[in-house]
Amino acid sequence: MKHYEIKYLLKEDVSALIGTTVCVKGWVRTKRGGKSVAFIALNDGSIIHNIQVVADPVKFEDVLRRITTGACLCVEGRLVESQGSGQAVELQAEKIVLYGEADPETYPLQKKGHSMEFLREIGHLRLRTNTFGAVMRMRHEMAYAIHTFFHERGFFYFHTPLITASDCEGAGEMFHVSTLDPENPPRTPDGKIDWEQDFFGKFTALTVSGQLEGELGATSLGKIYTFGPTFRAENSNTPRHLAEFWMIEPEMAFYDLDSLTALEEEFIKYLVRWALDHCADDLEFLNKMIENSLIERLRSVVDTDFVRLPYTEGIRILEEAVAGGHKFEFPVSWGVDLASEHERYLVEHHFKKPVIMVDYPKEIKAFYMKQNADGRTVQGTDVLFPQIGEIIGGSVREESYDKLLTRINELGIPMKDMWWYLDTRRYGSCPHAGFGLGFERLMLFVTGMANIRDVIPFPRTPHSAEF
Ligand code: ATP
Ligand code: MN
Repeated sequence: MKHYEIKYLLKEDVSALIGTTVCVKGWVRTKRGGKSVAFIALNDGSIIHNIQVVADPVKFEDVLRRITTGACLCVEGRLVESQGSGQAVELQAEKIVLYGEADPETYPLQKKGHSMEFLREIGHLRLRTNTFGAVMRMRHEMAYAIHTFFHERGFFYFHTPLITASDCEGAGEMFHVSTLDPENPPRTPDGKIDWEQDFFGKFTALTVSGQLEGELGATSLGKIYTFGPTFRAENSNTPRHLAEFWMIEPEMAFYDLDSLTALEEEFIKYLVRWALDHCADDLEFLNKMIENSLIERLRSVVDTDFVRLPYTEGIRILEEAVAGGHKFEFPVSWGVDLASEHERYLVEHHFKKPVIMVDYPKEIKAFYMKQNADGRTVQGTDVLFPQIGEIIGGSVREESYDKLLTRINELGIPMKDMWWYLDTRRYGSCPHAGFGLGFERLMLFVTGMANIRDVIPFPRTPHSAEF
């Protein structure tokens, strides 16, 4: 008996199959019915919709009694045009095999209406809900779209290491990687932990970004991108931060600020359009259940030009807002790192469209960003989105060896392990640029979900790594 996925039966032209016997397998969403007929809504994860199985309650009395929400079935039956509205076809059961029961006394997913908080507590089962099914299918589509976007444009997928010895970026936020005995680590004569005796012969940690190695790729292959797990031990319990998230980091030789921001805009629009074109059913569901303006918001991003806004100009707008009586929690003046409330004011109130902010004060940005002639700003870019705030952070990289080294020394960055990075500027240095997109921030935007813990299958956050 040929097994069909439910998506195929509901979405393809199956007129030739009508009247024949087919097999479907999946999990029971609901069972209802009475004396003359029983209905089972079956879902196999291939699509948000269920197929309706119609069963004779007398013939299937025994098995029907054991079928409850969450049970797994294999059903063989005649495919017929549906009597009821809602879907084109349904299955008239001829044989039902109960693969696995789901005890209704203990199975935690009953019908509807569970809070996201409760679902996080049953993270191993929440994937079986409609909402998480929709989000996870869209996650796959977005990942596929990302690879397609870069492949079509001649970028190479470049694998940067997860274990790194460079602690120059956000050292305080790194997860250590070590095989030393934590109870009794070897020590140097002055009492410090002797990392030389550790597995790699030096201090190592999980990567907070693949960029520095990505630059090695770009300065040899031209255009590369990374797409992999990223780890940050920042103790920020916000709805936008994870300790383990996925980041996409393209890096391009010969790109300047204009070509960089153009790529950022083209990339995000491509992904949002992809979601609209390829995830219509899941988006419709999320639009109905999670956020009513979701589809409208996605369409508006695809259709508008993003604003290019110098930081200095942004501060002026925010200062004017304050002068006009607008209250922010955090103060605004030239030189501050913008808080989420400031970013959202610019995006949601002032411009009412995505903003690419450029030319930040060098003090609030990383050492590798290209310095402007004014001596005060660097060519950093943040793409700011409605609801999300920062979705992309990028920059033109400083290609001058001398300027880069001066900045490193000014900041006192430990570069002893970074000689290989500086070699990109010593030999055949070139203008280049790149950015990082947090995959889960993108997922927040395209799904309308409110919390970043709910757009990744197994979230890692402070005090939480259960599943
Ligand atoms: P934020 O100010 O929001 O913490 P950041 O300035 O630390 O961001 P970058 O270092 O520029 O971010 O990283 C690039 C992108 O990675 C960000 O634009 C964001 O989309 C994403 N990102 C950064 N930190 C996290 C995190 N902890 N969880 C999920 N995504 C993140
Ligand atoms: Mn951060």
